[in-house]
Amino acid sequence: MSAQASADADVDLAVVIGLEVHVQLETDTKIFCGCSTTPAEDEPPNSRTCPVCLGLPGALPVVNEAAVEAAVRVGKALEADIAPETRFHRKNYYYPDLPKNFQITQYDAPICADGRLEVTVEGERREVAVRRAHLEEDPGSVVHEGGSIDTADYTLVDDNRAGTPLMEIVTEPDFRAPAETRAFLSKLEEVLEYLGVFDGSRDGSLRVDANVSLVPAGEVDAEGRVSEAALEEANRTEVKNISSHSGAEQALAYEVTRQRNAVERGRVIDQETRHWDEARGITVSMRAKEAEKDYRYFGEADIPPLRVADWRDRLSIPELPDARRERFREEYGLDRESAAKLTSSKPVADLYERIAGEFDPGLAATWVADVLLGELNYRDMTVAGVSGRLDEVRDLIALVDAGEITRKNAEETVLRAMLDEGLDPETVVEREGLGTADDDEVTAAVRAAVENHPDAVADYHDGEDGALNYLVGQVMSATGGTAEPGEVNDRLRAALEE
Ligand code: ADP
Ligand code: MG
Ligand code: ZN
Repeated sequence: MSAQASADADVDLAVVIGLEVHVQLETDTKIFCGCSTTPAEDEPPNSRTCPVCLGLPGALPVVNEAAVEAAVRVGKALEADIAPETRFHRKNYYYPDLPKNFQITQYDAPICADGRLEVTVEGERREVAVRRAHLEEDPGSVVHEGGSIDTADYTLVDDNRAGTPLMEIVTEPDFRAPAETRAFLSKLEEVLEYLGVFDGSRDGSLRVDANVSLVPAGEVDAEGRVSEAALEEANRTEVKNISSHSGAEQALAYEVTRQRNAVERGRVIDQETRHWDEARGITVSMRAKEAEKDYRYFGEADIPPLRVADWRDRLSIPELPDARRERFREEYGLDRESAAKLTSSKPVADLYERIAGEFDPGLAATWVADVLLGELNYRDMTVAGVSGRLDEVRDLIALVDAGEITRKNAEETVLRAMLDEGLDPETVVEREGLGTADDDEVTAAVRAAVENHPDAVADYHDGEDGALNYLVGQVMSATGGTAEPGEVNDRLRAALEE
């Protein structure tokens, strides 16, 4: 323990963090049986189960091909090596929601190894190495009736979730600050969603265990890497129960401060597992950290080794967010901020490309990035959530592009009614009488404004600035806001100079 940070309260300390991220892979059925992964509305506990995911004796697992394909795609996106032959293992532990008393996971032959993901933190590019990424099954869940684990009257077990496919992505201890983990998790989610293998809006679809320790700052090299010896020697805590990006940052910030304070008081950091209590904003000691030998890993004899060597070439992945962002800047001349917004999710980027292909790319950028995303955000909605109505959005933009309604009416009346009332654009235009005023109507309104407001006309000729605006206002209200203000302006000037 000589280089142990806690041995000397005076040395400068560097933060070391490594993540184990569990993500739910989007498949129709569970990883080793045919049960659905999608909860039915108000489903009874243990109803979405079968002998396999209930762990009944004699039931045999069959690997879900879609889960393996998703894992290979994740591996490709992370530029990882795909194992030519991958194997499953049993990880033994007792937990009430683990029906077999072991979890089928991967051990020494994970499907993906040695990958990387580039993140940008405060404008600086950093590469985070991914040590491995493997497939495993989710356990069921325990339900503490009448309170929390400490106060419940009794606890029930629900195996509906048991057997949901997970991928565990393990990073090297490459994070030097809690904020970096947040950037990494956002980027990871973005990539997984682009791949179509992950749905961040699903409850519990991302769960993080964060390992954190302090090492003497001198053990960190110029590239931010920590020596193996220092990593080995540092006592670390593993914080469990983190379920969001912001949760990871908060839990780690708390944990770093706690460890620093302990070191300052000359105490040794216990190597332990801690629980993030989100409501209280603290980490709480759970148990001494389990060692690998505690799990008695052994090969899953019911699942033969899986040869996936040629899957890497067989399975394609879409253009990933970074590449797409760059292309948007070049191809459509977008600034960095618009390109980032428009590639924030695949459905948004796909919609943008569709609109930009048909109309002007600049108009498309304003409409998708500012108008549509603004109105959706305000309502807690997403483009993916209105995927069935994108034709209507396109039709609305077509109406503006053709000059059939004003941009202001399109934004403030039609789009809002489309989102709030589920109407299509034509219906709203008709109901609200928003069709752009035709020539005769504008001409008549201009003539009336000039005739009925001689004082304003006189003021205009006296050079008073407000007079023209006043007259424009009269025409706009006479046409119910359906005239183009710019055009009204021009027509009025012409009429006044006659
Ligand atoms: P375990 O066997 O305890 O699960 P691993 O070596 O598999 O430990 O690493 C688990 C995670 O802990 C990885 O994400 C790794 O980056 C991280 N890690 C390893 N050493 C340290 C350390 N000294 N401080 C913080 N995280 C660490
Ligand atoms: Mg581990
Ligand atoms: Zn099942």
